[in-house]
Amino acid sequence: MKWEESKKEIDEMGKKSKHSYRYDLVKRGGNSAVMEDRKTIAARFYQLKSGHALIAKYLLRIGKRSDMKCWWCGHEYQTRDHLFKWCKRWKREQKRLWVDGQEGEDGYMGVEKVFKKPKISLPMSLVFAEEKCSQALMDFLSSTDVGRISRAAEEAENSDHEESSDWGV
Ligand SMILES: [Zn+2]
Repeated sequence: MKWEESKKEIDEMGKKSKHSYRYDLVKRGGNSAVMEDRKTIAARFYQLKSGHALIAKYLLRIGKRSDMKCWWCGHEYQTRDHLFKWCKRWKREQKRLWVDGQEGEDGYMGVEKVFKKPKISLPMSLVFAEEKCSQALMDFLSSTDVGRISRAAEEAENSDHEESSDWGV
């Protein structure tokens, strides 16, 4: 899918959703803030879909980190799979994504129900490609910091390598 089409799809998706971004509405107030935030989440969605995202596996590949350690839970390999399925930091959000889904008019089915398979047998590339899972993934991203650098990770890395303070990707 082309980037422009992807953006359009995400815009449509966001228009349909009143429920998922309520927290941001309460927190920041105003519709423009919600619009802004939806775009930020959409950007993270496409970074993670392509794999070129703020995850340790990618940062190691491009030389921004010296290992793949997960800055949320300390696991040895912070891959996309780890963050969406296994990372201990996001257990509650993972359960909603894979199993529970969300009730309500703009709710969604858990990903395992969409595919009728357990998460262990579902590659993330497949889940990202399935339109029926987009809302669940967007909601997961809006309720977690997956695809973001944590301050703790940044500080730890900077104290190891004083020269590498540039986190722009
Ligand atoms: Zn983790």
